[in-house]
Amino acid sequence: MSEFSHKVVVVTGGGRGIGQAVARRFAELGAAVAVISRSEANAEATAEEIRSRHPGMARAYAVDVSDFEAMQETGKRILGDFEKADILVNNAGVTRDGLCLRMSEEDWDVVLDTNLKGAFNAVKAFQRALIRQSSSRVISIGSVVGLMGNAGQVNYAASKAGLIGFTKSLAREYASRGLTANVIAPGFILTDMTGVLKEQLREVVLGQIPCRSFGTVDDVAHAAVFLAGEGARYITGQVLAVDGGMAM
Ligand code: NDP
Repeated sequence: MSEFSHKVVVVTGGGRGIGQAVARRFAELGAAVAVISRSEANAEATAEEIRSRHPGMARAYAVDVSDFEAMQETGKRILGDFEKADILVNNAGVTRDGLCLRMSEEDWDVVLDTNLKGAFNAVKAFQRALIRQSSSRVISIGSVVGLMGNAGQVNYAASKAGLIGFTKSLAREYASRGLTANVIAPGFILTDMTGVLKEQLREVVLGQIPCRSFGTVDDVAHAAVFLAGEGARYITGQVLAVDGGMAM
């Protein structure tokens, strides 16, 4: 039995990439997982894959995290199905890259609404349930870009920097209730999100990574498990970069 047996983990953006790896990893450690994704098909595919190895341990929920009302409704369904929530992983995120000179209002709004407001919406849906547990966790997936900035990503960098302020404030509000809130700031992780980038750009980025390799989704999942564990009970309001040394 692991320390995550009997825990309920909610993962947004669990249909693909990092969120999928996080959901898988917690399920491997005995947790029950609520997999949230924008599309029904991807949420269900992850949940089904988990159930095939760990019967009954995952359920799928399709919702757009940027929609406040829809997220609250989904939160109620999840709490009805699982009866509690111990760990919330705010992972759902999108990019709409372009130089500020050419960026549309829509590209700004979609990225901020998903990456930053989406985290607020999910916290609103689960915070009361989380603080009913003795040691609960909010783990938000930021980015090194939120620490360093990046030309062509003013919207994305602002959303990820915003997640840090959001998390530090949440950490202060809930520290006395046993809830910790932290950010994982991945560097360049091989997923669909980075798969669309041109080979030439990937080579440039690789040259900026001291470890000289791209990260994997499991690198991020392991960090999430660490922050969720009892061993991290005294760590809150922090940003843990998982980036091969990119942002130091
Ligand atoms: P992917 O594009 O591979 O997957 C994103 C996931 O988020 C998908 O499951 C997608 O749903 C879901 N999602 C997107 N928008 C919404 C929404 N509005 N509501 C609900 N779910 C949504 O991304 P990654 O796995 O690469 O990234 C995951 C997180 O990590 C993001 O927050 C990203 O910013 C961050 N990150 C990634 C890095 C990388 O190098 N890959 C680096 C730094 C940070 P669906 O599958 O249904 O479309």
